[in-house]
Amino acid sequence: MTVVGIVPAGGSGERLGADRPKAFVVCAGKPMVEWSVEALSSVCSRVVVAVPPGHEEPPDRVSGSASRSGSVRNALAAAPEATVVVVHDAARPLVTAELVRECLEALDGVDGVIAASPASDTIHVASPDLLVADSPDRSTLWAAQTPQVFQADILRRALAGGDSATDEAALVAAVGGTVRLIEGPSDNIKVTTPTDLRLAEAILRDRC
Ligand code: C5P
Repeated sequence: MTVVGIVPAGGSGERLGADRPKAFVVCAGKPMVEWSVEALSSVCSRVVVAVPPGHEEPPDRVSGSASRSGSVRNALAAAPEATVVVVHDAARPLVTAELVRECLEALDGVDGVIAASPASDTIHVASPDLLVADSPDRSTLWAAQTPQVFQADILRRALAGGDSATDEAALVAAVGGTVRLIEGPSDNIKVTTPTDLRLAEAILRDRC
C-alpha cells in the first residue's frame, strides 16, 4: 500500500482578506499549508500540494486549478504510485497525524472514509428568494471535514467526472463508492474568515 497525501491549496481565500493566497497566510508562526503538510508527512510516503499560479515547485508543489476538484485531480496526476490517497484542505491547519491514522484504519471494507461532524445547527434549504424551502432532519446531517481518504483507483475515476462538487466524498459516492463517516474533532476547523484564523492560531499555540 502506497499512501500519498494530497493538499489542495489552490484557493484565493478572498473571505480572509489577506495580501496573499490563504494557504500562505502565516498562522501561528508558519504558512498555514505547512501545518497540514507536516501532519500528513508522518503518515504518507509523499505529500503533493496543489498551489496557486506562481507557487509551483515540482515535483511536490504542482499547479492548482480553478476548481477544488481540479486542484485535487492535478495533484493526484503527479502521484501515479498512490494506491491510497489522503486528501486534506490546506485551510484546516489543526489536523493531526492521529486523525489521519484513524481515517486510514477505518478504510477497511469501504472505498472512502471522511472526518465529519454531526450538525449542531438546524440546517434549512433556501429557495432562490431566501425562503425556507426544506428543513432536513438534523439527526441525519453531517458537516464534512478533511482528511478524506480513498482507495486511489475509485478517486481517480470519480475525479474524471464533473468539477462542481465541494468535496471528494460527494464525487466518490456519485460513482457508486461507499464512503464511511467518522466523527472528527470539533477543533478541526476550516479557516475561512479572520475570526477563524485567530481561533486556529490560539488553538495551535495552546498545543505547543
Ligand atoms: O473553497 P474552500 O475554502 O472550501 O477550499 C478548501 C480547500 O480547497 C482550500 O485548502 C483551498 O485552498 C483548496 N482549493 C483549491 N483550488 C481551488 C479552490 C480551493 O485547491 N480552486
